[in-house]
Amino acid sequence: MSKNKMPSGLKEPQLTRNAEIVLKKRYLRKGPNGESIEDIKGLFWRVASSVAKEEQKYEASPYNWEELAKIFYEMITSFKFLPNSPTLMNAGTKLGQLAACFVLPVEDSMEAIFDALKYAALIHKSGGGTGFSFSRLRPKNSRVGSTGGVASGPVSFMKIFNTATEQVKQGGTRRGANMGILRVDHPDILDFIKAKERDGELNNFNLSVALTEDFIQAVEKDEEYELVSPHRKEVKGKLKAREVFSLLVQKAWESGDPGIIFLDRINRDNPTPKQGEIESTNPCGEQPLLPYEACNLGSINLAKFYDPKKQDINWQELKTTIHLAVRFLDNVIDASKYPLPQITEKVHLNRKIGLGVMGWADLLFQLKVPYNSQQALKLAEQVMSFIQTESKAASKCLAQERGPFPAYKESIYYEKKLGPYRNATTTTIAPTGTLSIIAACSSGIEPLFALSFVRNVMDGETLVEVNPYFESVLKQKGLYSPKLMEEVAKKGSIQKLDFIPEEIKRVFVTAMDIEPEYHLKMQAAFQKYTDNAVSKTVNLPNSATQEDIWNIYWLAYELGCKGVTVYRDGCKNAQVLCTGKAD
Ligand code: ADP
Repeated sequence: MSKNKMPSGLKEPQLTRNAEIVLKKRYLRKGPNGESIEDIKGLFWRVASSVAKEEQKYEASPYNWEELAKIFYEMITSFKFLPNSPTLMNAGTKLGQLAACFVLPVEDSMEAIFDALKYAALIHKSGGGTGFSFSRLRPKNSRVGSTGGVASGPVSFMKIFNTATEQVKQGGTRRGANMGILRVDHPDILDFIKAKERDGELNNFNLSVALTEDFIQAVEKDEEYELVSPHRKEVKGKLKAREVFSLLVQKAWESGDPGIIFLDRINRDNPTPKQGEIESTNPCGEQPLLPYEACNLGSINLAKFYDPKKQDINWQELKTTIHLAVRFLDNVIDASKYPLPQITEKVHLNRKIGLGVMGWADLLFQLKVPYNSQQALKLAEQVMSFIQTESKAASKCLAQERGPFPAYKESIYYEKKLGPYRNATTTTIAPTGTLSIIAACSSGIEPLFALSFVRNVMDGETLVEVNPYFESVLKQKGLYSPKLMEEVAKKGSIQKLDFIPEEIKRVFVTAMDIEPEYHLKMQAAFQKYTDNAVSKTVNLPNSATQEDIWNIYWLAYELGCKGVTVYRDGCKNAQVLCTGKAD
């Protein structure tokens, strides 16, 4: 472990009790007997200093690395910005794997399938999540030339990946997460769509069907479309597009899985098409990547950028943080040790980073803007276009200092004369499942699930947790009481509580109070200014119909989203854990 001496005078991070529990249990470095060998301040200094140290490699850097380490430390411990979990866990350690997102190719041969399985195990062990497209595997019952037997098909191989994942607990911290993707024109598509219909089946996978433009056109025109076997490129049959779409909708209605991705749209935005097609995303869907590519993410906590004096966003401070965060994430690429040489090569070629946001709902609470309002959608576009523009400006500055990403001359930036950038992509919106607990803010761009809820802390102890902005507004109005908080915890929402004033009800809306269309419109507003994709769940009430889901999927397409995930309240499957919660 590299030990960069901690300077005196560093501020102690102010943590909530939950943040402290999560950090102690999962993030602090442990010795051979499982005892912590650093404290929380030490953890953040390890991360800030080891990432800042990369600065020394670049002669044109305007920073002394030790000064930069202090600046990074301040940015992280004030919770204005956090890098993804593997960076917090592994920066400055022997393992040193800092990226959350990976995509591995699965070729159509026994050797290649089991190579991918082994690579996935290595990645899971290091704290990363893996995405795979199984579209290149020959369909079940096709002939296997070398043995004369028959192939078992993508879904049965996925079960092996699922079992392996179950066994590899990641570095003792979190179980692995996978994304499994199949093209809609693969002959086994119906099996794939039904693959999670039984409870517990493929529990370590999120599934997404990759929809093509041709398929969408066929749904629109109520036509058939062709199924093509990938190994022979032969047409194997036809299906009615609307029937497949209906089945997709039905299964998503039953269990939330599969989601959909719009594959051609993802490839339309592929910044390096000469390196091949994008076939898959990472586990939670926000990061499309080329085979063997990895990406590290980081999230700006928007809740920290409210200026109470101006009752507005502190744009200047936000700009400073974006520029620093891009430098930080670019350094992470160099600081990270990847589990395979193919991955190191690809990552260094394109240098993708994914800067996103969390604390969006908390920012809206402070601005007193309801999540489900036109004003919120407008603000979402304004905030994300600012982050997109500034992150691109920062990447351009880094290109001048350090050179553009090596594949720049083969990229769309060169072709379209957009100028050299240091990174092939700069923006992604992650779910921030654990990061938002550490930073004590609302996750990603999601609304709150509940304004107050009972959290099980360790050893059967429970705690009523209240959103701080909600608590402070109630206190101002003289409405706060612990009893009321217990009442709100039972319901989550305040919409049916008569004695709460309308103006408070309007602003403090929760996931289930928000119409599904607004969930989706919010996703689309952020997607408009995001290079990669946006993690978002469209929450539906239990009473939602299959037609509602059909309409949501269609609207997602029309609004320019790259994919969509729905979750109907109380439907049978729990989602794959991407939150880093206890397994
Ligand atoms: P965090 O808050 O822990 O940094 P996110 O919830 O933002 O993570 O998820 C970001 C990405 O990190 C996911 O899309 C996935 O690629 C990876 N990831 C999240 N949880 C896990 C997990 N349990 N195992 C493996 N990878 C994970």
